Amino acid sequence: MSRSTIDFGIDLGTTNSAIAVLASGDTEVFKNNEGFEYTPSAVWIDKNQRLFTGKRAKERAESDARNTASEFKLLMGTDAEITFQHSGRRMRPEELSAEVLKSLRDDVKQRTGEDLRHAVITVPAAFEFPQCEATRKAAQLAGLETAPLLQEPVAAAMAYGFEKSESDKVYWLVYDFGGGTFDAALMHVREGIIQVANHGGDNQLGGKLVDWEIVERLLIPAVVREHNLPDFRRGNERWLSAIAKLKQQAEQAKIRLSRDESAGIFVETLCLNDAGDPVSFEFELQRRDLLALLDPYVRRSINICKRVLSERNLSPADVDRLVLVGGPTLTPRLRELLADPKDGLGIKLDFSIDPLTIVARGAAIFAGTQRIEGIARQAAAAGHFGLELKYKPVGTDLEPQVGGRLLAPGGGAADFSAYTIEFVHPAMRPPWRSGKIRLSAAGTFFTTLVAARGVQNTYAIEVADPAGSRLATQPDSLTYTIGLAINEQPLIHSLGIALAENKVAWLIRKGAGLPARKRDEQPRRTVVALPAGRADAPPVRIVVIEGDKDRADRNKFIGALEVHSKQIRRDLPLGSEIEISLEIDASRLIRAKAFIPILDEEFELKLAFRGESPDPIELAAEFASEKARLEKLRARALERNESNGLGLLQRVGEERVIEDIAGALAAARTDPNACVQGQNRILDLRNLLDEVEDALEWPTLVSDTEDQIGYADRRLKRQIGGPEEARAFAVLEREARQAMGSGQPEALRLKLQQITELGNRLRWLDPDFWVARFEWIRSERGDRLNDPKQGAELIAQGLRFLGSNDLPGLRQTVNQLTTLLPDEDPTDIREEFRTNIV
Ligand code: ADP
Ligand code: MG
Repeated sequence: MSRSTIDFGIDLGTTNSAIAVLASGDTEVFKNNEGFEYTPSAVWIDKNQRLFTGKRAKERAESDARNTASEFKLLMGTDAEITFQHSGRRMRPEELSAEVLKSLRDDVKQRTGEDLRHAVITVPAAFEFPQCEATRKAAQLAGLETAPLLQEPVAAAMAYGFEKSESDKVYWLVYDFGGGTFDAALMHVREGIIQVANHGGDNQLGGKLVDWEIVERLLIPAVVREHNLPDFRRGNERWLSAIAKLKQQAEQAKIRLSRDESAGIFVETLCLNDAGDPVSFEFELQRRDLLALLDPYVRRSINICKRVLSERNLSPADVDRLVLVGGPTLTPRLRELLADPKDGLGIKLDFSIDPLTIVARGAAIFAGTQRIEGIARQAAAAGHFGLELKYKPVGTDLEPQVGGRLLAPGGGAADFSAYTIEFVHPAMRPPWRSGKIRLSAAGTFFTTLVAARGVQNTYAIEVADPAGSRLATQPDSLTYTIGLAINEQPLIHSLGIALAENKVAWLIRKGAGLPARKRDEQPRRTVVALPAGRADAPPVRIVVIEGDKDRADRNKFIGALEVHSKQIRRDLPLGSEIEISLEIDASRLIRAKAFIPILDEEFELKLAFRGESPDPIELAAEFASEKARLEKLRARALERNESNGLGLLQRVGEERVIEDIAGALAAARTDPNACVQGQNRILDLRNLLDEVEDALEWPTLVSDTEDQIGYADRRLKRQIGGPEEARAFAVLEREARQAMGSGQPEALRLKLQQITELGNRLRWLDPDFWVARFEWIRSERGDRLNDPKQGAELIAQGLRFLGSNDLPGLRQTVNQLTTLLPDEDPTDIREEFRTNIV
């Protein structure tokens, strides 16, 4: 049978991957060669360059950590490379993922003989652009021609929704606790259509953290204690393989504890001690040991769920069911915590579909709704009859319409007037036939099918030539499902551009359906001049970001569109207008365009697809500064007894954020996964501290605004500034007082900024200011200027201007002096987010 819809769904997981197919309305999970429904996402390369995936590779990770790779999904979209020591081969995360996909393809080939060329692949909802891009690359490397991406929670909901699509106007929450990622997705089912209403997630939260907790807090201390190996710890190169063994053992024991009260661990030869003697290791892990280790992670996941709900003004009571996805949801303690009405969510749990294969099943259901594009043309080009079909593979019609056109082999012209086409639904009772339909001379036709509810309807397509002989066409069947559809793949994070001073303009908002295209409503302006043909001139830089934070550098850097001096024919003066637009397609390819009217030219973004691998040393420094900030904020919050801030800070302790980052960074020297994990956690911490700062900042914000109002008011009263400034001030003061009443930091921050700008304009006109500023530089910084000789000359010049009452001259001198001031307050916007447009 040649397919007209994709039908295959792949869950490309951090820990395990699975593939399912939709066949006659039902999903079927393929077993791999070893008979398992899921395949570990692991790769092993031996010294003869032979490559193994799946269970063998995962088992190998224990004894041969340097020649295996696992959990590389966490590195997708970074420029990390894994080196396999024996073979010397280096592989990128997407190449490793491609090997997993190939192995799933091979399983299909082995079971059914079908050569898989199209499949839907799922990605965590928290995946950002570079990670999706890497996934697409992996599919391509694995020989998949079409591979639409689908978010895992959407797939999971579809797996349930397919069976129970009748409920109306209810919310579901998909809770996906995997090996390395956590996703909470609020799903809305309306009239049989599944939509994502809101989403939250953490792509650094999963079962493997629990495995590491067991290793670090229980097993390693036991080894150190019992075998006198004081330097036995994670991150120490010498013990890499021993630690890997412990990790594997920890995972297996943890899985057993989902069923049993205790699980024994035994490793015959863990390592050699200093005397060269083998060390054997034994440990009895109790279910209750696990509680303390597991709880913080479950709490973290619960907090994410609560946030997802509260962002939509919902409470757990509004949610009909909690769908469990991912291996760790088999843990009794996790279910218990989730179901607890006080500590947990108290939403009714649903786990009737196997949480380890539900995503692949849902992906297959979705795949059944995806038409394979271009097969007719390809078939014709390859010398077959191609059949171009136009229809919706899924819809609410009981009698769906289908149209199309027959293509002659070789793609040339032909007269099809005496040819016929017939659709047959053999599974219908009794079997349904459309009857023979005459094609037009050009080969086109149009007809209506009859479909049954609750199943995937498969129609065989029979084309006959004027003599009545059947022709083999590609495709030769089509499928149609009533009801269920997901509307559009929504955007997970907002997409926008960074502006000078770390501000943000969001163009395409979170939740927008894809594809989306948006032009910035406000024309932007450059804050630098760009002369044409000057190689050393810094480019005009437009920074594209993804996220939801108000401060530009708190978001994910996507890429920078740079307009260089050599690209322009004439000078671009300061303040030139730029019209920016962003586009994102259904598979999240992003394109940014900048039209510069004065040049009448458009520039397009060459996206820097991959994120950088974090540097452990830089991370350690960032961590230190966030910790210091945390302590300062904690002290301030306590001092002011600020309850919002204190509540937020409590989460840091509850979720063991600090310990977690410290652990990840300690392991980062030998484990690139830990490094990425540390980086993400630091970002979370920073965001949380920003929130605390906002809460605490309010009084400061109010008093700063009062100060600025005061400065401006006093200058206006001294007749500095004209009627225009006075009018602007009156308006701004009123708005600022309103904002103070509103209690919203964002609104007040904006007013503060506008008043400060007005104040700056008045200051510019105020001779007293320039005199005072000059005196200050002269007396306080005169001996420390960057260029002492030029500094002394400028000070002498300033004194002359002062003596002759020359305000413009003094202003210019002070501005020149300012550039010589020692660097005391470097702007703290992170480098890649620097832009020069406003
Ligand atoms: P991913 O989506 O990241 O590939 P999976 O859903 O396959 O993850 O879950 C893998 C995780 O589930 C691993 O951490 C594994 O240890 C854990 N796991 C698998 N089975 C069980 C079980 N019965 N009880 C607890 N955890 C389990
Ligand atoms: Mg998963």
